[in-house]
Amino acid sequence: APVELGGLLQEVVDQWRGKQSHDISLHLPEHEVWVRGDADRLKQVAHNLLSNAIKYSPQADRVDLTLRQDGQDVQFLVQDYGLGIPEEAKDKLFSKFYRVDNSDRRQIGGTGLGLSIVREIVEGHEGTVAFESEMGAGTTFTVTLQAYRVGTADNSIMILEDNDNLAKLIQVA
Ligand code: ATP
Ligand code: MG
Repeated sequence: APVELGGLLQEVVDQWRGKQSHDISLHLPEHEVWVRGDADRLKQVAHNLLSNAIKYSPQADRVDLTLRQDGQDVQFLVQDYGLGIPEEAKDKLFSKFYRVDNSDRRQIGGTGLGLSIVREIVEGHEGTVAFESEMGAGTTFTVTLQAYRVGTADNSIMILEDNDNLAKLIQVA
């Protein structure tokens, strides 16, 4: 089903607000961003990434969540200013039960399933998930999905067709 990601991310952020110490800033574009997918599963993706961003940034007080669209590509980024991910963990990070075993995070609990679920769901939506990280400075996870739309040549109009073949026009920036 068509899912509007701005509203979906807002809901996830609202669930976290007040329950933890970090300030979560949500940066949304002016226009709606539609993808085809399963809303509950996409919420799970955002939730797991936010959970990690908060949990693995004990020295920081904020997390940034950004949604953007460039043509057909829709991306959401979860950026933290925390512990970072060591180079040697990069190949295994999305594997089931894998956890980084560093002295800086031995006290932080988890099962090592969050990111394997993220990857499974994102790939189930024909998307990709990647990250960039610097030890001691922070990490940004980027989820890329395909927009549910047909663009015009100048990209100024999105045409969304729902299952009943009704067309809806939305102005993009
Ligand atoms: P779970 O999510 O199942 O409760 P978890 O958080 O340990 O447990 P994953 O979410 O799969 O498991 O993450 C795997 C490992 O990757 C974590 O143990 C952590 O060391 C590292 N990691 C994940 N996200 C971040 C992040 N934003 N910053 C630093 N390290 C991270
Ligand atoms: Mg996790």
